[in-house]
Amino acid sequence: MFSQSDHAGFLPLDRLHLLVAQLMQQGYQCLGPAVENGAIVMRELEASDGLPRGLQAEQAPGRYRLTTDPQNRYFAWANGPQAIKPQAFAPKESLWRVERDATGMLQFEAVIPDVPAQAIIGVRACDLAALALQDAHFLREGRRDPHYAQRREELFLVAVQCAEPGATCFCASTGDGPTPTTGYDLALAELPDGFVAVAGSAKGGAVLSALNLSPATPQQLDAARQQGLAAAAAQTRSLPGRLSPSGDTLRDALMGRLENPRWDEVASRCLACGNCTAVCPTCFCHAEIDEPALDGQASRHERIWDSCFGESHGHLHGFNVRPDIRSRYRQWLTHKLATWHDQFGRSGCVGCGRCIAWCPVGIDLTEEVAALTAGGQP
Ligand code: SF4
Ligand code: SF4
Repeated sequence: MFSQSDHAGFLPLDRLHLLVAQLMQQGYQCLGPAVENGAIVMRELEASDGLPRGLQAEQAPGRYRLTTDPQNRYFAWANGPQAIKPQAFAPKESLWRVERDATGMLQFEAVIPDVPAQAIIGVRACDLAALALQDAHFLREGRRDPHYAQRREELFLVAVQCAEPGATCFCASTGDGPTPTTGYDLALAELPDGFVAVAGSAKGGAVLSALNLSPATPQQLDAARQQGLAAAAAQTRSLPGRLSPSGDTLRDALMGRLENPRWDEVASRCLACGNCTAVCPTCFCHAEIDEPALDGQASRHERIWDSCFGESHGHLHGFNVRPDIRSRYRQWLTHKLATWHDQFGRSGCVGCGRCIAWCPVGIDLTEEVAALTAGGQP
């Protein structure tokens, strides 16, 4: 990434709006960072020069505060609470509806979303990795979800290298960041005077060509690479793949500690609020509900995000498989970090740190993993 062979261009700082204008001209609805309720979320840009500047996000367990970036950069903020998950896996959407016709018969109809082509500007490497996991779930062979597929196909992703990871980030240890390596249409690295830009798809190449950029110099490419290395080195949290170079994998270590007393300890702090699953870019659990019209003549079948921390999520006919918070936290952590390997061939954690910052009581999964795997207690 950002090597000589990437055919990288250089977009001067005062021409960033031309990238947004080009995407708009090509028919994309453009989403970019916006401040809402004190946090950075992705919202539709009304004008090509509508990207905010000079923001950073200070993050710690149970804490997120926007601060000022002394260098007045566009993308100095580490990720906010919202990944790009809602753009492909909608928090709530209709799967089908039923209506009584004039003869009294029920007519069923599938509802496929009519979504505009969307360009998202400011996607992070961890979010691209998470989207690949969502793809593996929703687009798997023989079980392709048409609602997800429809939204996903319309996305154009403009990734940005993280230069200022949050204190909660650990994507370097999961191998998912901070420099985007795959899954983007365009990737940018922000330097003091502009952006090194590379295309990752034919769509991205077409946008880059239309901008008619001068090639990035070897010095600019090197500065982008060094910036990525420095951002990785600045991360203080980590998640081990193995407990030691020749020791247990994290998967086996966690599955061998299902009765560890640490599960009781973390359960005594966990509120089972589900914030961690709502902000997690890889969580895909959902529930299906029916919303009948008051007159009884029609009904919509809805899919909504759900959480394994909710009591109802573990409810089977006649009993609950996860009746207490201990079993729900354990389910979340062991699915995310252990059995996900069996399903998808890798961990379900991309190191974005959101579940740490947005947990109201500051539970930190890297700390929980360290406590669970410390010593020999199973
Ligand atoms: S770990 Fe934190 S965010 Fe997750 S359910 Fe428990 S209290 Fe809520
Ligand atoms: S488990 Fe936490 S750190 Fe890992 S991807 Fe989900 S929100 Fe991010």
